[in-house]
Amino acid sequence: MQQEPEFSPQTAPDASADAQADRAFMRLALDQAHNAWLLGEVPVGAVLVRDGKVLATGYNRPIGDSDPTAHAEIVALRQAASLLGNYRLPGCTLYVTLEPCAMCAMALLHARVQRVVFGARDPKTGAAGSVLDLFAEARLNHHAQLQGDVEAQACGALLQEFFRSRREQSRPAPSASGAGIEVRELGVLPGEEFDD
Ligand SMILES: [Zn+2]
Repeated sequence: MQQEPEFSPQTAPDASADAQADRAFMRLALDQAHNAWLLGEVPVGAVLVRDGKVLATGYNRPIGDSDPTAHAEIVALRQAASLLGNYRLPGCTLYVTLEPCAMCAMALLHARVQRVVFGARDPKTGAAGSVLDLFAEARLNHHAQLQGDVEAQACGALLQEFFRSRREQSRPAPSASGAGIEVRELGVLPGEEFDD
């Protein structure tokens, strides 16, 4: 019997160019996530884009800033709003490596961000469809377009690697007689569920 040829649907050139741009900006957000890791923070990064240009960047930094609201999205929103002298950011797209939490989702809606693109899903605190979906909440006045799972594997793998390395560091050194290595208490942070 003859094998059916594999069918690959032709994507419209514009749609494919948009998808390519989304992946490129998500990789910039991943660079920001790496910055967070270098400072011992859970690696989540964000970039805010308008007219194809990066307006602001941010990475997760609640420990360093002693600020529970210092998630990557909030850091990028604050930077852009301050730069533009406007608390509203219409026409912008926010790329973030991890699904936004409820705090960040509401901040993005308050800022009137036009579009939100995220990487990995967050089954514990995700407010873009995983735990709840504030972007689809009809009772809220404002809405942003939402796109998930862009470079999801790379975004999720970075978080998994981070938690794996943190677990390894927290194990007592085999040669040190009973003396465990001090590990920084990170508390409950976004991405913690990647601690497999
Ligand atoms: Zn958040």
